[in-house]
Amino acid sequence: MTISHCDTLIHAAWVVTQDDSRRILEDAGIAVSNGFISAIGSWEELAPVWYPKRIVDLTKHLVLPGLINAHTHASMTLMRGLADDLPLMEWLTKHIFPVEQKLTPELVHLGALLACCEMTKTGTTAFCDMYLMEEHVGRAAEEAGLRARIGEVLFSFPSPAYASQDEAFDLVRSMKERFDGSNRVNTAVMPHSVYTTSPELLEKSMELAEELDIPLNIHLAETQTESQQSIEQHGLRPVPYAAERGLLSKRTLAAHAVDLTDEEIDLLAKSGTRVCHNPESNMKLASGIARVPEMQAAGIPLSLGTDGACSNNNLDMFSEMSSCALLQKVHHKDSTRVPAQQVLDMATRGGACSLDMPQTGYLAKGQAADLIALNLNTPSLMPMYNPISHLVYAAQGADVALTMVGGETLYQDGKFTRIDYPALREEIRDAAEFIKKQFEQGKMA
Ligand SMILES: [Zn+2]
Repeated sequence: MTISHCDTLIHAAWVVTQDDSRRILEDAGIAVSNGFISAIGSWEELAPVWYPKRIVDLTKHLVLPGLINAHTHASMTLMRGLADDLPLMEWLTKHIFPVEQKLTPELVHLGALLACCEMTKTGTTAFCDMYLMEEHVGRAAEEAGLRARIGEVLFSFPSPAYASQDEAFDLVRSMKERFDGSNRVNTAVMPHSVYTTSPELLEKSMELAEELDIPLNIHLAETQTESQQSIEQHGLRPVPYAAERGLLSKRTLAAHAVDLTDEEIDLLAKSGTRVCHNPESNMKLASGIARVPEMQAAGIPLSLGTDGACSNNNLDMFSEMSSCALLQKVHHKDSTRVPAQQVLDMATRGGACSLDMPQTGYLAKGQAADLIALNLNTPSLMPMYNPISHLVYAAQGADVALTMVGGETLYQDGKFTRIDYPALREEIRDAAEFIKKQFEQGKMA
């Protein structure tokens, strides 16, 4: 018998691997070295041959790959609950944009740290984020230990981060350089949407993404209002317009993709464009119901996201999974639509595809040790017949007992290992006073 050494040996009651054959293991072991999985299999096989520096006892737990939130605006946690129950365009232009004009790098960083705490605590190990002064979101992700694909939001009007289009593109370049050496954070080019950007900005965004060889993210076809505006301004609906500007490709991740015709689903599928579905945001902002089964049937790679905390109003991916399945079932009046395994795939493997992070999304030898564990002793997870059913229909983020990224435990049993949460809480309370003032002034303006 050959003895091997590893950093960590996990002993778990259940492991939902999400590997190519979707293996579910009982009484299983995972050996982790240098942040990656060295072996995964039955505890009986692994325990005698792997000598670890530490053993993590998860024998009352279900282990699965960390969930991947493929579309969010992390710093918007600062504005959670500030303005609700409004139409999307009014909400965005009259309430959110005015406050955002007053944001500082410190506030963006603080909001992102709060988001990282919430995501870590509720089982998300990687997220894809678009915001202004995004470098400070990347900084927060590095501090919190989460993986992130980040991008400065690009508008055709000035933002607090840049005065002109050239400055905006310079910022994208410098962010790429800044995070090139990071083992947790990388970048993308992120034009906001077709309704906040000029044709030139869209075309140049794709040119820059190709030049830097990084992905491109955009909000696309979120509402019927967006479609009408696009027809008025460009004579085309958002998806054909994006195609004409050269925006649809394997490099592209489109958030929302709600208002789609059959031909547009075809366009997205043929171009290799990936889609992030955001059911709770779509419900809360009454944007509509994305055609998830049709997109799936067309072969569009699908992931799941919460969108920002103002339009959700949490970053809990367990809640998002449940909403995704339930919304499609009631919409189609067919309880067989979008089954649990498909939803879990979107939140794990689909997310890895959307973020271009192939080392994440499933647990297998050679993959990153990005995993989470749920406490199975909690009443709402008992009894256990089918782990996949529990993960989508019964579990909540609050059931997460451990979150690990790259073999490093970031959260366990109520405690964050990297972030001083009590101190952060105080800073958030102070920041909220400032935000409230800006909001009241914005309403009077
Ligand atoms: Zn969004």
